[in-house]
Amino acid sequence: MLYENFGVHKEAYYNYLRRLEETFSKGLQSEISAKEWKFLDFPEEFFEEEMTIWIDPLDGTKGFVEGHIHHITGMIGVSVKGRPRIGVIHKPFYNMRYHHSRTYFGTPECGIFIKDKFHDKLDRLRKYHPLPPFPHDFAVPDEDFRIWSVGSMNRNQVIMNEIYEAMQTVNVARVAGSGNKWVYMLDQKADGYINMVPGLKFWDLCAGEALLQSRLGVLTDASGNAIFYDESLEDYTPRNGIIACKNLRTYNIMKERIEKNTGKSLMQHHALMAEEIARKK
Ligand SMILES: [Mg+2]
Repeated sequence: MLYENFGVHKEAYYNYLRRLEETFSKGLQSEISAKEWKFLDFPEEFFEEEMTIWIDPLDGTKGFVEGHIHHITGMIGVSVKGRPRIGVIHKPFYNMRYHHSRTYFGTPECGIFIKDKFHDKLDRLRKYHPLPPFPHDFAVPDEDFRIWSVGSMNRNQVIMNEIYEAMQTVNVARVAGSGNKWVYMLDQKADGYINMVPGLKFWDLCAGEALLQSRLGVLTDASGNAIFYDESLEDYTPRNGIIACKNLRTYNIMKERIEKNTGKSLMQHHALMAEEIARKK
């Protein structure tokens, strides 16, 4: 399926990848070395030892044990040389009323596909289809852009609430489980997601980042650096927070508003958040 899509739309995807790389090198030049964002250098082949598979078989377990089975997702992310290349997220209870499950599958080279499966009686509705890159909303000027966020169920994080206010967020969808946050973004229900609590692991992120990239999304840590899914690390927890956006435009708007309206960078907020967490403990 991916290969066919790649064959038919090779030119478009190539331009798309080029744009992705240009976008990153333009917007993030000062913070990320060009080497780290060499999307066009995706190898024709790679060695198995350069590849790591990050699996979260049951994400959203807390909700699951409380009986909210619609919170769960299963994720498989594949990284090559530390960067995400393939993402799969399966949400078995996407819409329980129709026994509707959904699988997202994609690579930054071939784009993203969703597969919908329904109750046997509705099997005629089963379908696969590709999703286009996220829209840039260029018709809306930067200052009028309204941000829809997705965030943690925890509403009592003072720093996060300040950040949402500074970004002029219309709404923060409180969604349980990291997999669900990616699903929310991939479904275009949210423009961005910021997480400052060091709780997510590489297996919570790898598939999500690969899939966001497949729609031309952006994910970095709070300092603007790429996350490297390095299996040789002792701890698979990214320590510098996460900011994920549907595109670079939204990413810049979010970061600029936070800096302008609070006088602090995202990384400074991150440090304050760490203090807040330590205090609560
Ligand atoms: Mg998880």
